[in-house]
Amino acid sequence: MKYISTRGGMLPQPFSDILLEGLAPDGGLAVPQTIPQVDSATLEQWRSLSYAELAAEILGLFISDIPQEDLRQLTAAAYNQDVFPGPHMVPIKPLKGGMSLLGLSEGPTLAFKDMAMQFLGQVFEYVLERRGATLNILGATSGDTGSAAEYAMRGKRGVTVFMLSPQGRMSAFQRAQMYSLQDANIHNIAVEGVFDDCQDIVKALAGDLQFKSDYRLGAVNSINWARIAAQVVYYFWGWLRATEQGQAKEVSFCVPSGNFGNILAGHIAREMGLPIRRLVLATNENNVLEEFFRTGIYRPRSAAQTHATSSPSMDISKASNFERFVFDLLGRDPERLRELWQNLEAQGQFDLSHLKPQFEARYGFVSGTSSHADRLATIKKVQQETGVLIDPHTADGVKVAADYIEEGVPMLVLETALPAKFAETILEAVGTEPPVPEHLTGLASLPQRVVNMACDEQEVRDYIRRHAPVVGSETC
Ligand SMILES: *Cc1c(COP(=O)(O)O)cnc(C)c1O
Repeated sequence: MKYISTRGGMLPQPFSDILLEGLAPDGGLAVPQTIPQVDSATLEQWRSLSYAELAAEILGLFISDIPQEDLRQLTAAAYNQDVFPGPHMVPIKPLKGGMSLLGLSEGPTLAFKDMAMQFLGQVFEYVLERRGATLNILGATSGDTGSAAEYAMRGKRGVTVFMLSPQGRMSAFQRAQMYSLQDANIHNIAVEGVFDDCQDIVKALAGDLQFKSDYRLGAVNSINWARIAAQVVYYFWGWLRATEQGQAKEVSFCVPSGNFGNILAGHIAREMGLPIRRLVLATNENNVLEEFFRTGIYRPRSAAQTHATSSPSMDISKASNFERFVFDLLGRDPERLRELWQNLEAQGQFDLSHLKPQFEARYGFVSGTSSHADRLATIKKVQQETGVLIDPHTADGVKVAADYIEEGVPMLVLETALPAKFAETILEAVGTEPPVPEHLTGLASLPQRVVNMACDEQEVRDYIRRHAPVVGSETC
């Protein structure tokens, strides 16, 4: 399996080469040259596999330059009870009316990003070790991504993480989660500013090509193909569990969406032949994607037009993974894609309304949106009806999914975080604070390790210079 760019300007490359890169050299995103196919006999054989075994089978279809035996070891190290301590790694939690949650948030940071990031940590270490290389991961976070990356990369040989976060802008829980890590290869830098300031510093340093290559800067953002591939696994897992009793053949999934990474993995699973009926895309008040699937017009917003909502991980203005779906929608034609993105840059939007009939008929996509009031009402209703407490992002999914329930078709809503992370909104919805999982109750009292810094690119640059491990230097 080789990878090409959505914009056509990259020679086919194996997985390990695209793993460590961000954007393709032509500004596009890496995609597999062909989508591997899975038939129904294979699906049936996969029913008895553990999550780690299933992950090795599916990832093996996308990764041909790592031996299958090694891949099995990597997935066994990523997906086990030490990392995902609940009784089931990815549980199904039934709600009412044909709807269930697909429990993707049992990992160390209580959000679905752990699912992909834990594999990324393993495969980074593996590939770097074999190449005798090191990597410095530079990122900015408003909470979820940064902590998932740090928990996945902590203690990994060859990897050092520099994570910028906005001083005083994260919840106490999120701060405790990130800053309590004592691993020498994790550097938390709290910047005097907001998330966008952190992001600007990262962009400036990563855009300085000399600095980038001198300090071997890399990223773990959501456009990394390995993250998408690892997310494909849980769509298969969810389908296998929801069809176990044999009454249902097709399953629908509803996905609380922001950067389009999670639901893109669902699209890939469906293209691989997994019998997915519908992919229901849920947004919050930031409805760029809901608007596209409703109208065919893609109209990214500016940072100023992006609302700060109570499902903050879905507060995006443009969806960085969306280009991969549009590539498929345009018949995988890089010329047409390039043209469209030129229009986007010139006019701030593009119009694919002539393809709208295909969105659902060919690709299964439908969409809906949810508001703060919907979120609160849904959290409360689900708790009253079932006793299950859901987080604000998952609530957006449950709210939108309700409009697409069909008789005989299980609806799995992806549980993208646990309520413990978002105490304030839970309190507003149900009048009490959410329970904190047992293994995290002592978190708030642990010592914290964080460097405070002015909002100053030069200061961050100097810090990386001083703390990035030196390779190939002469020793005396
Ligand atoms: C990242 C995140 C999302 C959005 O996922 P995308 O892959 O960006 O669409 C939704 N909910 C939570 C809790 C998240 O952390």
